[in-house]
Formats: sequence, C-alpha cells, structure tokens
Amino acid sequence: MSETKYDLMILGAGPAGITAALYGQRLGLKTIVFGDIPGGSSYMIEHLANFPGLMEGTSGTQFGTMAFQQAQKEGANFTLTRLESLNRNDNIFIGVDVDGQEHTALSAIAATGRVPKRLAVSNANLKGVHFCSICDGPLYRGKNATLAVVGSDNTAAQHALTLARTADKVLLICRSNTHKMDAVHKDQIEQQNNITLMTNTEVSGYSGQEFVESIEVAEKDKGRQDLAVDGIFLAIGWRPNISALKLEVQKTAEGYLETNEKLMTSVSGLFAAGDVRNTDMWQVLTACADGARAAKYAAEYLEKLTQP
Ligand SMILES: Cc1cc2nc3c(=O)[nH]c(=O)nc-3n(C[C@H](O)[C@H](O)[C@H](O)COP(=O)(O)OP(=O)(O)OC[C@H]3O[C@@H](n4cnc5c(N)ncnc54)[C@H](O)[C@@H]3O)c2cc1C
Repeated sequence: MSETKYDLMILGAGPAGITAALYGQRLGLKTIVFGDIPGGSSYMIEHLANFPGLMEGTSGTQFGTMAFQQAQKEGANFTLTRLESLNRNDNIFIGVDVDGQEHTALSAIAATGRVPKRLAVSNANLKGVHFCSICDGPLYRGKNATLAVVGSDNTAAQHALTLARTADKVLLICRSNTHKMDAVHKDQIEQQNNITLMTNTEVSGYSGQEFVESIEVAEKDKGRQDLAVDGIFLAIGWRPNISALKLEVQKTAEGYLETNEKLMTSVSGLFAAGDVRNTDMWQVLTACADGARAAKYAAEYLEKLTQP
C-alpha cells in the first residue's frame, strides 16, 4: 500500500482528468492521476479545430501532451497506469492499480470518458470511420463526398443533417424500419434532398485499401449491394468507462454517472467530469470545463470534511 494519502484521486488522464489535476494542484490539493494515455481519447483528433485559441488546428495528441506537461509542472502526480478498482471505506477512497498497488485519497474524480461502439464487420479498422460529425465532418468539405451515417436515432439524424451541409450526398442507413428518431428529426431528414434514408438495411462489411472506399449493405428482401462512400459515421451508441467503479453509484440506463450541480455523484466525495458524466455535449472544451469545476468542488468538499 502506498504511504501517501492524497487529497484527490483522479481516474482518467483525458482532457477532463488533466484539467482537474491542473486545477486541483493549483487549489493546493495533493493530487494523483491514473490513466495510461495522457490526453485520453483526444489523441484520436486529427485537428482540434473547435477549441478556442488553437488557430493552427493543433492535433489532439499535441494538445494532450501540452496539457499533461502543464499539470505535471504544477506538481500533479501522474502514475501513467490504470486503476483497476475504486472503493470507499469510512470517507477514504481506496484505489487499486493494475499492478495491485493500493492508493488512498479523501476525494475522487471519475473522468474515465466513453468509447464508441463499432460495427463487428469485415475491414472494421480501415481509416475513414468516424464517430463525431461536428469533429470530423469538415474533413470532407469541398470534396464532393458521399458519406454514410449508420444508426437510427436522433443522434444519427443529427449527424446526417450536420454532414448534409458539407457533403454532396449522405446515406442514412437504419437497421430497423421503426426509427428511434422523433418526428421533427424525421421531417428534417425527409426535407433534405441530399440525404437518402435507407431503412431495413444492415451494413455487413467495409472495403478499401487504406481508407474506406465502399460498404456492403444488405437490404431486407432485396439482397446485398456495394455502395461507394468516402467516409462512414457510426452512431450506434457509446459505452461509458465505469468498470473500475466498484461502489454503488447512481447512473443513467446507459451507465453515465449522474451528478448534482456541483458535479458530485450520489457517493459523497466522488465527483464526475467529462464524457463519463450524464451530460449533453461530449467535447474537449466541455470536458475541460467539467474537470476545472469538479476540482473546485472537490476542494470545497475537503474543506468541509476537515473542518472541526
Ligand atoms: C474520433 C474522435 C474525434 C473527436 N474529435 C473531437 C474534436 O474535434 N473536438 C472536440 O472537442 N472533441 C472531439 N472528440 C471528443 C473528445 O475527444 C472527448 O469529448 C474528450 O476527449 C472527453 O474527455 P474526457 O477526459 O472526458 O474523456 P477521455 O478523453 O475519453 O479520457 C478518459 C481516459 O480515461 C481512461 N480510463 C478509463 N478507465 C480508466 C481507469 N479505470 N483508470 C484510468 N484511466 C481510465 C480512458 O482510457 C481514457 O484514456 C472526438 C472524439 C473521438 C472519439
């Protein structure tokens, strides 16, 4: 067991976790951070073009590295390893890392993010498969692109509508006939003349050399066909990373952590920040904002905890 008891234990070294570490240290909290990839999911961002101030389209990797170095300079202790489990006993959070080492802290922030679900199809790892139309749609601007959106709910509809502004053609491919999207989205889709809605259609494979060039689809009662596409946007759901949380905590049906207005979860002293939280925007900027706020409220919590 580690000798040091920390004020704040952070799970996740993505934008939310790193910002929480930066703010935590600056608020005078002794902070330990778990996470094997400095920058978290942001390493997948080719050009972080929607973060104010980063004019040259800094890559997510550059952003993550700079933020990591900044928090490290403030004194945050980055373990560069993952936490296997987090429990709580008598107001003390107990984390066990992947090497079996135990660490303790008086407060904790879950900033573990989420991962997109992928299709289990042939050539699933080709380049040109995306998950965020706001982020990656602009890559196809001015390229007369045909893009496929796979999914049937409001998120898929929103991706299709966003992409229809810059692509020549958008194929919205829904596996079922009964759409999970609401009437407003359905109307908007039908009015957009460069979106083709394909129902009862399942994607069974991708083809291409390095990048996706076509997809194989199977339409119920009509057989298979290949459709040429320049990119694919998957909207088949995300999975929040919560497997390390071994304590009883309130979650949404999908597993996102519920928080109050001070970002505290249903467990006293455990805060949540960024994509793992039940939120309405999953971006670097909002994750950073969450991280800063969670650290502030963790400091407030600790002040009350240690008051006589
Ligand atoms: C392909 C792609 C492109 C994107 N493009 C953009 C964009 O252009 N602009 C934008 O603003 N946003 C973009 N996003 C979204 C952005 O990356 C996320 O919103 C942001 O990274 C969320 O930050 P986070 O810190 O909450 O989570 P994450 O960045 O996901 O970081 C959480 C980290 O915690 C780790 N972790 C999980 N469990 C544990 C554990 N038990 N112990 C330790 N670590 C753990 C995870 O592996 C992960 O590395 C994109 C996302 C993707 C996938």
